[in-house]
Amino acid sequence: MFTLIPKDDPKQALRLRRFFLAFLSYLVWTGLVALCALFGYFRLTLPMALLIIALPMLAANVGIYTALRSGYNKRFSDPSLTMFQIGVATLVTMITVYFVDQVRGMLLMVYLVTFVFGIFRLRVGQFLVLTGFALGSYSVAMGLLHLRHPQSVNLRMETLQVLSLATVLVWFSVVASYIRDLRLRVVKANAELTGALATIEKLAVQDPLTGVYNRRRLMDVLRQEKGRVDRGGPAFSVCILDLDHFKEVNDRLGHLAGDEVLKAVAEKLAKSARNVDCVARWGGEEFVALLPQTELAQAMVFASRIREEAAELRFPGLPGDFGVTVSVGVATYAPGEPLDDLLTRADNAMYRAKHLGRNRIESEPPPAPPS
Ligand code: GH3
Ligand code: MG
Ligand code: MG
Repeated sequence: MFTLIPKDDPKQALRLRRFFLAFLSYLVWTGLVALCALFGYFRLTLPMALLIIALPMLAANVGIYTALRSGYNKRFSDPSLTMFQIGVATLVTMITVYFVDQVRGMLLMVYLVTFVFGIFRLRVGQFLVLTGFALGSYSVAMGLLHLRHPQSVNLRMETLQVLSLATVLVWFSVVASYIRDLRLRVVKANAELTGALATIEKLAVQDPLTGVYNRRRLMDVLRQEKGRVDRGGPAFSVCILDLDHFKEVNDRLGHLAGDEVLKAVAEKLAKSARNVDCVARWGGEEFVALLPQTELAQAMVFASRIREEAAELRFPGLPGDFGVTVSVGVATYAPGEPLDDLLTRADNAMYRAKHLGRNRIESEPPPAPPS
């Protein structure tokens, strides 16, 4: 269904709202002209005054609305058509001032109203072009008047009027473009703040060395998953993964090489996990993978795969035959159990894997139900 203002395009909607605001101002202007005519300050009768002001005004506005509503305006470098719309208003003003005599000076205030529409859009250069156009068209109107109705212009007074109009418009142009610059700076600062906030949010949940989640984030997700299961949702499991004899890696190859190994293992782990899983660095050379909607048997399959993948990892910059192994402890959350208990069970399983020779996976059964 056709709507006056489109709902799907916020930028176009804003342009059209501004258009209607301008259109409303034209209607007020038409009312003022009608009053001038009624009170005898317009050189034409009321119907003629309306005809000569309202008709071109309506035609121009129908054209502008069609351009904005059809999207034709998007072809221009200034899709809000601000310069064009101010230009049209200036011309309508020019026609008006040609026909009014005593109250002409008073009507000049409308130039300011017109220019207000450019405050957030136009650069100082564009404002000055419009100022030139306003002064030029006003002078043309006065020139024509001087030729055709010399009695209705006082050249000295008009010169003063044009000069004061010039002063006001130039001053307005400078201030308005200053306001535009301020607005642009605020927009830019806002964008930077939004970016900074995103970075902070990321840093707050990320382990700086490996890029996987940190312990804080893991605890949040654990609490969330616990809540889900306690409300009757499907089970989740955790795998605690510890690198075997990692101290020796550091001792043999140095701490920096150790860091590279940690990064590579974390990357592999994150890649092997599903999007819904949460992989986090638990501490030094220990990681935890939280697997939502995963029973123990499926978690064991995951742990087994990750154990094999870790053993196959090779590291650029380190000796070709160098590899690491991991020991993994797996436990599935039992509804209602404290999270610390769950983690202790997984940890116990991991230590059992260490004692049983490392490079293996072990699971811990759920706690016995209270008798
Ligand atoms: P195990 O098989 O029993 O787990 O032996 P391990 O040597 O891995 O165990 P241990 O807990 O004794 O040593 C862990 C080592 O991990 C000690 C520490 O230097 C190293 N480590 C912890 N965090 C980092 C880190 O961020 N970077 C590096 N390079 N090493 C780390
Ligand atoms: Mg350890
Ligand atoms: Mg270790």
